[in-house]
Amino acid sequence: MLFPLDPNTPKCKVFEKLNAELIHFLHQSINAKRFTRKLFSIATGQECWDNQPTKEKFEIVFRTLPVSVADRQKLYDSIQNCQNLPLLFRDKTVPIPNITPVKLFDSLKSLTTHLFTRTKDLAGIRRLATESIEEHYQTYVRSNSELCFLCGISSLAQNRFNIKDDDQWRADYDHLLCKDKYPAFSCHPDNFIPTCHICNSKAKGAKDILWDDKSGRRKAFFPLPPFQESFYHLVRLVPAFADLADFRANNDISPLKAARLQWPTATPDEREMIKAWIDLYQVPKRVAERITSTFCEYIDADCTPDNFDDFCDQINRKCRREPADMKVMEWRFWWYRLYQWLNEQSDDIKLEAWELIRWKQQLVNGNHAAQTFGI
Ligand SMILES: [Zn+2]
Repeated sequence: MLFPLDPNTPKCKVFEKLNAELIHFLHQSINAKRFTRKLFSIATGQECWDNQPTKEKFEIVFRTLPVSVADRQKLYDSIQNCQNLPLLFRDKTVPIPNITPVKLFDSLKSLTTHLFTRTKDLAGIRRLATESIEEHYQTYVRSNSELCFLCGISSLAQNRFNIKDDDQWRADYDHLLCKDKYPAFSCHPDNFIPTCHICNSKAKGAKDILWDDKSGRRKAFFPLPPFQESFYHLVRLVPAFADLADFRANNDISPLKAARLQWPTATPDEREMIKAWIDLYQVPKRVAERITSTFCEYIDADCTPDNFDDFCDQINRKCRREPADMKVMEWRFWWYRLYQWLNEQSDDIKLEAWELIRWKQQLVNGNHAAQTFGI
């Protein structure tokens, strides 16, 4: 998690209700011989029972439960004892529920996916939870911002002026523990965080946050309140400039050869968690591409430097304090880290950067002249 969430960010009440119902159902099923209304709670259970598709998914799970009471108890215990998700992220020795056989795994996955995608929107469930997902999303944005706190790159979604909460567009909710591998947590209230589309759908997909195919079980940041696990304060951005002669000779190349992220003061634990974040969201590659390809244009537009001294002065001013909109505006944090690196460099290195920017300015001005005047 790049940025920490406000510790008062509320959990999603709809998922608190649905997860509690799932746990209640598994507990009631330990000694049950038949699938009846008695397996469900009074209020939320009635809504699930009255909704035929939801009821059918519960029934299929009941029919695939282990036969013996002891095995049903074991299944219930393994899920109930893992309700503390932050512990799963921090302690690699905490066992993850092992749902077997495949028939049971599949039926549970089908049920919890249905609870997440369909049951959550039932009018009765929304009434009991006193909010919809859309309303929860707005409380999340008001507590934090519209920026994706996993990457600091993109907006979550875009709110429209003067539209009520329930009708606003909302961002994707990423399952921290993906539903394909962790069906027991597909509607757990601690398993969701609003994310930008790229983080959720392009970068992460069904990747496993707790498991690396090469090194096995790993630690990962648990981003949700009341914890505020984040590492933005550890990140440094280190660019490598292209040779000006090469840049002059070939207008197509980027002014920067690289823009690497580093965390020199991170502890081994933090490095392990940052590695999981890189694997999941691919932020360093996304940042490197943007910084290397738009370096000259961004700095020229953001600082509008007149000469080298002005350029140095502007960079210095950019670094006097953290930008107030660093956790609000797309990309702001990453450019701020670049300014910080530049500000720490010798005049010789700053001059290299300045000459690249100036060359690009001349090039753009030349192109404009050619387009306008045919010269
Ligand atoms: Zn993102």
